[in-house]
Amino acid sequence: MVVDMVKDFVTGSLGGPGARSIVPRLKSLLARARSKGISVVYVCDAHEPGNPELDVWGHHSMKGTEGAEIIEELSPQEGDSVFEKQAFDAFTNPALDEELKQKGVEELVLTGVATNICVQNTAANAFYRGYRLTVVKDCTAARSEEEHREGLKYMESMFGAKVLKADEAL
Ligand SMILES: [Zn+2]
Repeated sequence: MVVDMVKDFVTGSLGGPGARSIVPRLKSLLARARSKGISVVYVCDAHEPGNPELDVWGHHSMKGTEGAEIIEELSPQEGDSVFEKQAFDAFTNPALDEELKQKGVEELVLTGVATNICVQNTAANAFYRGYRLTVVKDCTAARSEEEHREGLKYMESMFGAKVLKADEAL
């Protein structure tokens, strides 16, 4: 699962060096995952006016704008799925869980940004829906290294997530 690797979160208004630094490794991880027949699912903010997040974070990843597009380096490939979301937690889009259940998915491998925000909130809901969790620590990032580490620690201790490097996850 690739969380919020859209332009606004990588190169745009909420982007940063952390998000940009994981791109090559994540691209490679996704290619290797596809070659093993592992489903690749993107979840992306596609906000509409009036969303409560906008008061806190400003306008970002607005539905239909360039900022909400997945960055070109990580463009979805044939067979991948893309789900829009309106909240930190991707499972607020019911179509996501429906597709994962249909595919018989039991474990989620989480990548993307931000470790302590959308990745962590998605992990929380996934945990209660019964998915086993792995978080790829060198394919996730946050606004600071400290927030990144806090998010990883939280998911490990609260949800029993495995925290692995990309090579270990594969
Ligand atoms: Zn958002």
